[in-house]
Amino acid sequence: QNEMDPEKKTIVILGSGWASTSFLKDIDTDDYNVVVVSPRNYFLFTPLLPETTVGTIDIRSVIEPTRFIARHKSRTVNVIEAECTQIDPEKKLITIADNSDVKGNHATSTLSYDYLVVGIGAMSATFGVKGVEEYGCFLKEVWDAQKIRTKLMDCIETAAFPNQTPEEIDRLLHMVVVGGGPTGIEYAAELHDFLVDDLTAWYPELAGKVKITLIEALPNVLPAFSKKLIDYTESTFKEQNISIHTQTMVREVRERDIEVKRPDGTVDNIPYGLLVWATGNTARPLIRDLMQKFPETQLVRRGLAVDEWLRLDGSQDIYALGDATATRYAPTAQVAAQQGKYLARLFKQLANRDALELELEDASDEEKVKKERKLRKIKDIRPFQYSHQGSLCYIGSDKAVADLPFGPGGNLASGGVATFAFWRSAYISSLFSTRNRALVITDWLKKTALGRDISRE
Ligand code: FAD
Ligand code: NAD
Repeated sequence: QNEMDPEKKTIVILGSGWASTSFLKDIDTDDYNVVVVSPRNYFLFTPLLPETTVGTIDIRSVIEPTRFIARHKSRTVNVIEAECTQIDPEKKLITIADNSDVKGNHATSTLSYDYLVVGIGAMSATFGVKGVEEYGCFLKEVWDAQKIRTKLMDCIETAAFPNQTPEEIDRLLHMVVVGGGPTGIEYAAELHDFLVDDLTAWYPELAGKVKITLIEALPNVLPAFSKKLIDYTESTFKEQNISIHTQTMVREVRERDIEVKRPDGTVDNIPYGLLVWATGNTARPLIRDLMQKFPETQLVRRGLAVDEWLRLDGSQDIYALGDATATRYAPTAQVAAQQGKYLARLFKQLANRDALELELEDASDEEKVKKERKLRKIKDIRPFQYSHQGSLCYIGSDKAVADLPFGPGGNLASGGVATFAFWRSAYISSLFSTRNRALVITDWLKKTALGRDISRE
């Protein structure tokens, strides 16, 4: 490993998502040796992932290699493409595995740390519903978006294959989305736009037969949004011919149909061609494994319990942030990014504290008084405070909904085309790099001028 300074403490960061990348951007490498371990060697801007499933924007436009970010640091950051498979909090050691298809002489290794920052996010929840993993598509990672796109185009091309029966064409062209949270809503909205803007022109004989259905277990979609925006979303979906089935639970997913339980208790089988499963998050196996190592303090199934300073309950040197944790905040990019920034500041203060403690050892009595006062100040680290910037969701036909904080404790709920313009500008300004901004804007312009690409990937 390059430039590991034995005089400095080593921070190992797990993950290259919102939380870890925001931490990496702000951590001062003059204070610490920094190592990043993540099975994907890039940051993914998840808010625009639904747009990539239909080719509105290209996947390359919303990812940024972690090494690009690391190269701007004052000292070398070791970026290792690997999955952390085990954490040994007693030995302060992690086990890592190269999970790529290409293997060298060594596929596993260990790394020791002084501080461990766990930002490995969460995985898609299935609630144990049979068949989801086998037949459904999640929407969380780049490969999920690629799989959805391929499957969508396969369904359409197979429906266009000669001599299909009308029932089979209807099944193939029935796109079902399970989960009416922001992920499910944004995906259904993108699919609708693709259908109206592009498929109608390229497959005129089939486009009218495409049906989109959204299934939600609760009485309404977007449960975290204000009532006015829920109603607006539901009426916009109605106008867009997207059927919403609320209070409907999926009980089993089979290769060609799903079994659902309706609010009146009846059970139905719904045939589908493409099934996108977006029912929220669950803890990753590594997180569950780590929780078991702290049986007295880690009691929440949802994720890691941390204190107000993001330190793992029960540990002195492990910090956790983002979707991997169970806090009072929603599992969003906004929270994860703010936590990453906060933690980098906290580590700056820890480095200042360590330096001052060293200085104190050799200080004269007169200096000691001053330094001790300074030390007390440094040790008084403020807890993490989240500042909510609002919630946004794209709902199709160039419309978005937004709940924005307004005044003390107030909320401004807005929906429509103007909100969509705001949605776009908010995401463009929160993209991490100028390169990504340029690529996304170019993709949007390209889509407006030339339409989306319909080739199967
Ligand atoms: P992630 O961003 O998921 O990052 C986890 C990282 O850990 C990844 O790099 C992963 O490869 C790595 N990792 C996984 N396992 C291991 C392991 N064993 N060892 C090492 N590394 C590992 N939030 C918003 O606020 N606004 C939005 O508009 C929005 N849109 C979204 C759209 C979609 C489609 C999705 C799926 C989510 C969206 N979110 C949005 C939520 C947001 O993406 C998450 O809250 C955010 O990604 C959480 O950040 P994180 O760093 O905790 O996890
Ligand atoms: P979510 O947890 O927000 O929503 C999942 C939905 O699925 C819930 O409404 C739930 O009732 C429903 N559900 C659960 N089990 C079901 C079943 N068996 N059958 C039918 N419905 C079922 O999940 P999400 O939409 O993936 O979002 C995850 C996180 O990411 C959230 O915090 C969200 O705010 C954030 N996110 C934000 C945006 C945005 O701001 N635009 C976009 C995507 C995700």
